[in-house]
Amino acid sequence: MLKVNNIHVSYGDVQVLWDVSFEVREGELVALLGANGAGKTTVLNTISGLLRPHGGNIYFLENEITKMPAYRVAEMGIAHVPEGRRLFPEMTVRENLEMGSLFPEAKKKRKETMEWVFSLFPILKDKQHQEAGTLSGGQQQMLAIGRGLMALPKLLMLDEPSLGLAPVLVHQVFEIVKEINQRGIAVLLVEQNVMHALKMCTRAYVLENGRISLQGNGGELLNNQHVKEAYLGI
Ligand code: ATP
Repeated sequence: MLKVNNIHVSYGDVQVLWDVSFEVREGELVALLGANGAGKTTVLNTISGLLRPHGGNIYFLENEITKMPAYRVAEMGIAHVPEGRRLFPEMTVRENLEMGSLFPEAKKKRKETMEWVFSLFPILKDKQHQEAGTLSGGQQQMLAIGRGLMALPKLLMLDEPSLGLAPVLVHQVFEIVKEINQRGIAVLLVEQNVMHALKMCTRAYVLENGRISLQGNGGELLNNQHVKEAYLGI
């Protein structure tokens, strides 16, 4: 579904990704793991067209998207829920959700998709007329995911959805991510919460200093000695 082939990405003269390759197949939940500054956000921003690689290619559903502008990538079916959520704080919950469904196909199905989002996150239904900026951190994360779903994506990319959330909310958000994936939406999950991500993913890649250092299914990586020592503190 998504194929990232040997991409190299720099900020000015500073290269931060080297020869990064990975793929997400239909229906998979793939985790991209790594420490602070490893380059995970850069990978997502490159896929969604916010950054241009200076080497390599990216394909989505057989189409090359390497040089596509971000709005076209989104229209093709990739929704990016960025780190820090990037909501419109002075707009209501409902208006934020509507902003996720501006493309014609998504707009046509806005009403039923919103009902689905409300069934996943009932708190958003209760607070639909409240300004997004007044929500708690967990509720804002739910709204950011909900807004991503409003575009009816084929692939949902989530950048650190657990960041800053209390453990009980982390669990809840991950359960919902699993449910979304079970509905047939492929997920690319960037996480620092390595244990949780490995338990729920189909496959995972570990990014270290801008390079993919390990890959495997969740069970394999949970048992990998380097992963245990470097990321799980075992
Ligand atoms: P985090 O979990 O902290 O978000 P990350 O794995 O997502 O980390 P990136 O945010 O992709 O990592 O950053 C990778 C490297 O690129 C880091 O060294 C970072 O300092 C650098 N970097 C990120 N954004 C920029 C930018 N706009 N300009 C220059 N350097 C940047």
